[in-house]
Amino acid sequence: MPGNTKRPPWERGSGSGSGSGRGSGSGSGSGSRAGGDKPKKRISKFTYRQLAQLAKYSVDTPLRVIAHIDLDAFYAQVETKRLSLPADEPLAVQQWQNLIAVNYAARAHSVTRHETATDALKRCPQLRLVHVATWRAGDMHWAYHDTPSIATHKACLDPYRAESKKILALFRSACPRVEKASIDESFLDLSAMVHGELVRRWPALARAAEAEAWERLPLPGGEVEVGWAGSCVLEKEKEEEGGGGGGGLG
Ligand SMILES: [Mg+2]
Repeated sequence: MPGNTKRPPWERGSGSGSGSGRGSGSGSGSGSRAGGDKPKKRISKFTYRQLAQLAKYSVDTPLRVIAHIDLDAFYAQVETKRLSLPADEPLAVQQWQNLIAVNYAARAHSVTRHETATDALKRCPQLRLVHVATWRAGDMHWAYHDTPSIATHKACLDPYRAESKKILALFRSACPRVEKASIDESFLDLSAMVHGELVRRWPALARAAEAEAWERLPLPGGEVEVGWAGSCVLEKEKEEEGGGGGGGLG
């Protein structure tokens, strides 16, 4: 096919391969190195073109990096902050008898969302139960009532929506592409930021403009430090594996 030149080098016939030496990696390229004991250059399966697309948030590159942020025990964290409580104080948010968020300290006492407020209190007497704000019949504004009744009050989640907006604004101040998924979940497209970081760490990648687009990227040598403990993810995974203890909303 005349279109042979359009194809990346590793897909072209092995016979021609005098080129850059970035062949298929099979080692068949130049047979002149009899021993073949020279270490092979480590090559990524991704190309310079795909890397360049990353900087433009292209949906066509497999290198896209999308972060999903799910705030754990969100309502409970909001209440802990509103009441200026220490994070290690067991706290759960209730809506009538249902627990809708349980903080980490309460989970340590085996409090879960799958029990009533009364049962949770038996299990953990020091548990701070906070009822969601409510609208009382006839009132002009919601408030945190001590003993709201389902017969005369209506639950109000406005305090959590307000905090959610602040957090979303924080994400947007750090990342230009943020999509809200729910009151406590967002997606952040980190593609361009990751591209910038890759090029900063490995300046050789910045030669994308001069490299042929289909050329494969080199792989960095040595260990790559991410510098993040990821403990919150581990907590979440543990919770899901355990099938209980959920923080709920969120
Ligand atoms: Mg959540």
